[in-house]
Amino acid sequence: MSRADDVRAGLGRVRDRIDRAAAEAGRDPAAVTTVVVTKFFPESDLRILADLGVRHVGENRHQEAVEKVAACADLPLTWHFIGGLQSNKAAAVASYAHVVESVDRAKLVRGLQRGAHEHGRTLEVLLQVSLDPPDADGRAGADPSELEALATQVEEAGSLQLRGLMAVAPLGEDPTAAFARLRRIREEFVASRPGATTLSAGMSGDLETAVRAGATHVRVGSAILGPRPGDK
Ligand SMILES: *Cc1c(COP(=O)(O)O)cnc(C)c1O
Repeated sequence: MSRADDVRAGLGRVRDRIDRAAAEAGRDPAAVTTVVVTKFFPESDLRILADLGVRHVGENRHQEAVEKVAACADLPLTWHFIGGLQSNKAAAVASYAHVVESVDRAKLVRGLQRGAHEHGRTLEVLLQVSLDPPDADGRAGADPSELEALATQVEEAGSLQLRGLMAVAPLGEDPTAAFARLRRIREEFVASRPGATTLSAGMSGDLETAVRAGATHVRVGSAILGPRPGDK
């Protein structure tokens, strides 16, 4: 099989999984968008994906992302930045990303706003909420108690549009429990912000659980593209 055949098959399998999970949850499968996570994969894969009709792709490192966005400028792709972001890179990311999913602190909001404004762009923003216990090591994402203040800050930034929430299931915990917490956090969040209905959750290993918990976007890499180059 050619690489394109492999990728087409991977996309088909993931779409089937989403469709089945949505049906079981009584949700419209069309309400779930796949963001194909292309980190570590080459430009040629992005061309194959675009050819197969994929429009949403995700990258998690600034240097890699900026190079791929430039190389793929002719493709009709929407770029999601999904990784941990240093504040000093935020303005640069705002020059090419369409959606930044990993906004978890005030300093990032300021940097993204500055960069978006400088480039005359509008950025969609998701707040990354942590589902880890407050004292967990390497915790990424804002504490749920910080979301309201961050959301207000994004809403007041003229070049940013608040779209919703993003989360990653904690390692070593049953994602069902984690995504049940996420569902409640999201319900409360959306109650006061009816325009912020996006929920980005679920990866190759747990996308069904995320769809059942209401995810509108799943971020899927290896189940579509195979093991990442360099992954052990
Ligand atoms: C890499 C990554 C993914 C995709 O992971 P897979 O297990 O390959 O599907 C999703 N979300 C984030 C934040 C990632 O960094």
